[in-house]
Amino acid sequence: MGLGDSGTLPPPVTSAFAEDESAGLEGDGDAGAPATFAGTRQLLGRPGRRLPQVDARSVLTEALREAQQSAAEGGIPIGAVLIDAEGEIVARGHNMRVQNDDPTAHAEITCLRHAGRRTDWRQTTLVTTLSPCMLCTGAVLQLGIGRVIIGENRNFLGSENLLRQNGVKLTVAQDPRCIELMERFIDEQPELWSEDISE
Ligand SMILES: [Zn+2]
Repeated sequence: MGLGDSGTLPPPVTSAFAEDESAGLEGDGDAGAPATFAGTRQLLGRPGRRLPQVDARSVLTEALREAQQSAAEGGIPIGAVLIDAEGEIVARGHNMRVQNDDPTAHAEITCLRHAGRRTDWRQTTLVTTLSPCMLCTGAVLQLGIGRVIIGENRNFLGSENLLRQNGVKLTVAQDPRCIELMERFIDEQPELWSEDISE
């Protein structure tokens, strides 16, 4: 309904512009206005697409290392790494909720904290072993991260649609290693998992 409504609204505005253009000799200038607007929108979206080619499996191996580190610490086995425009890993982290008694210490958040202040978020790729929850999706959108590589979404489906709707490039690898790790954890520690997803 919302889309239909907005679809019916523009025509009067467009025709008003068209009348101005055809009436004035400086129509080119008027015609340029909407075109520039469209062009600006494209330009805004472009930096996010300037992303390096990344082998999902190998970067997920690094995120998995973090997940396994968390498991070794008695924590939740979710890991993340951040990749810059050159394809280099610039930060890593894993879920620290149990270790730090911190309900917001998700793998992605921990990784982003380790990344520190940056000005190149749009050129970065966040790699995470599991589909990002609402909290982590919010962080991705807030910072303007250009791409998210997701290990799997079979055990938990996060806010992927929200990421897509906001122009974040998504890759869902359905990596068997990530699936198995989460499956085993959920099977062995169902209560800890339920607490993690607030169920
Ligand atoms: Zn999260």
